[in-house]
Amino acid sequence: MKTRLNKTLQIMLLVSGIIVLSIFISCNQETKTPDHEPMKMETEQSNSTIVREGMIDLMMIDENKDGMVYQDPMDWNVISDEPGRCPLCKMELKEVTVKEAKENLLKHSYKVK
Ligand SMILES: [Zn+2]
Repeated sequence: MKTRLNKTLQIMLLVSGIIVLSIFISCNQETKTPDHEPMKMETEQSNSTIVREGMIDLMMIDENKDGMVYQDPMDWNVISDEPGRCPLCKMELKEVTVKEAKENLLKHSYKVK
């Protein structure tokens, strides 16, 4: 008598466990995928335009012609005319004069116009 009751209880527990688990898994699969990816793509695309390649033209980068630009002290070729963050290392860009930016680039063997 005692063992039979135990067995039915065990089966009931097992079945309810499986049901709960399958509900949990199907809910997780539905909510996970669509949310994250579009936002990540947008921010990466808009930021990567300040990563300069090849010959760097500081006069072109200094759009408002105030003689100041924002440069990343980790990645010297990340330069913007506006304050922001480096898309590569997420560091805040430091405000420097165009002359300083040019010297920094030449020191680290980048090509400057
Ligand atoms: Zn950086």
